[in-house]
Amino acid sequence: MLNFNNKSKVFIEFETENQQLNHDNSTEENRLKLYSLTISEVRDLLERKEVSVKDVVTSIYERIDAVEDRVTAFVTITKDEALKIADRVQEKITSENIKSTTSLLGIPLAIKDNMCTKGIRTTCSSKILSNFIPPYESTVTSRLIEQGYVLVGKTNLDEFAMGSSTENSGFHITKNPWDLESIPGGSSGGSAAAVAADECIAALGSDTGGSIRQPAALCGVVGLKPTYGRVSRYGLVAFASSLDQIGPITKNVQDSAILMNIISGHDPLDSTSAPLPVPDFTAVLGQDMKGIKIGIPKEYFIEGMDREVGISVRDSIKKLDSLGAIPVEVSLPRTGYAVATYYVLATSEASSNLARYDGVKYGFRAEGKDLMDTYLNTRAQGFGAEVKRRIMLGTYALSSGYYEAYYKKAQQVRTLIKRDFEEAFKAVDVIVTPTSPTAAFKVGEKTADPLQMYLSDIFTISVNLAGVPGISIPCGFTSHNLPIGLQIIGNHFDEESILKVAYAYEQSTDWHKRRPNL
Ligand code: GLN
Repeated sequence: MLNFNNKSKVFIEFETENQQLNHDNSTEENRLKLYSLTISEVRDLLERKEVSVKDVVTSIYERIDAVEDRVTAFVTITKDEALKIADRVQEKITSENIKSTTSLLGIPLAIKDNMCTKGIRTTCSSKILSNFIPPYESTVTSRLIEQGYVLVGKTNLDEFAMGSSTENSGFHITKNPWDLESIPGGSSGGSAAAVAADECIAALGSDTGGSIRQPAALCGVVGLKPTYGRVSRYGLVAFASSLDQIGPITKNVQDSAILMNIISGHDPLDSTSAPLPVPDFTAVLGQDMKGIKIGIPKEYFIEGMDREVGISVRDSIKKLDSLGAIPVEVSLPRTGYAVATYYVLATSEASSNLARYDGVKYGFRAEGKDLMDTYLNTRAQGFGAEVKRRIMLGTYALSSGYYEAYYKKAQQVRTLIKRDFEEAFKAVDVIVTPTSPTAAFKVGEKTADPLQMYLSDIFTISVNLAGVPGISIPCGFTSHNLPIGLQIIGNHFDEESILKVAYAYEQSTDWHKRRPNL
């Protein structure tokens, strides 16, 4: 049902070019493609009753039909269920006259396929969980359901979130909507690509070492990793439990704040979630930047960083300066140890977390002649190469005789890295860096060399080790028209400052308004 307000200037154009529905004499400027809108824009249209929830949801699936065979961002598309939910939500809006402006009523979102969705397959893009249907809902998605969101589908990732390109998915790779021969980043590559390709209004990702921010940077969208403990991990399939955090991937900073308001807060089901009050993250948007101190870590402008990335980030710093912020050089002296520290700790935790996939309790099973044989066959056939590499590395680092030399030492270095940030935040409000040393690279370019792949996380990993929040926002394009991301890092539980700075920057540029030509 199309429910247009006659006075509306809105012109709805659905995907098929020759199937345009011109409902009034609107102009070119106010043409809207519903799938291309942000959360706040869809909310406004729903609130003014200019469109129905079904219009929005239908538009998303028409877009998916048009582009998904090229982007392949999804593992599971939940169209039938979504259309049913759309009807239920519409009913609520109409009969109870509930305001859509404060909720997510009727907003189509995509969820990374490592967050449990009750009754909907949750695979972690691994063969070992290819038939796993969770009997419970993760806390984040429960909160979205309470707010009336519509699940579009579950997005592709590097198997168990291990990777930086989404090429480690056990099912298929995802392509970067800006260049279909390039990777979208990872591990939340499916979520970032789906947002960039307008296959959803926004999405959730998870970030253990950069997996929200790096794909957001490479796909030209906004990705926020909250402070460790800000968002419940209940129902997020664990990779490295002391580093994992869920966060929003959106088309702009305002939507990031809107989703943060909904997913943040203490959860008795996750003992590591912080019992702290949650501020209204949208309240800081538009606040003055005057006097805000922006730390520029000298260790982050390194050799090996792409020249165009360096130029864009330096220009962004100048822009922030012109908005009233004060750039200050800071030092994070242990930056050089971050990648090594992360790959000892993350793999150690992963080797323990992934021990549960044994073919007995759930997921895929390859029968053997006895129990041990079944374990071995299941894990040999169920896990992909990168996951096996990490389980072996982590098991080695935790084993007797090596534990002191690797795991314990890495924990000590982690503390030092955290102290570097604490020291820096005594002098500045936020820290600004590139998100990734390069823009999107070609599919297959780094798969043969895991170390090269690991180095692409150099700017994001310390943030997880320290537990602080970070956001990536679009800050330019390469000469090949690939997006570049700017990372803004905050102090513990100070997402407000990074959102404030990100918003001020975003509002003074138009990088976030550019869309790939699909
Ligand atoms: N790219 C990093 C890794 O491979 C980070 C992944 C993540 O944040 N989930 O571990």
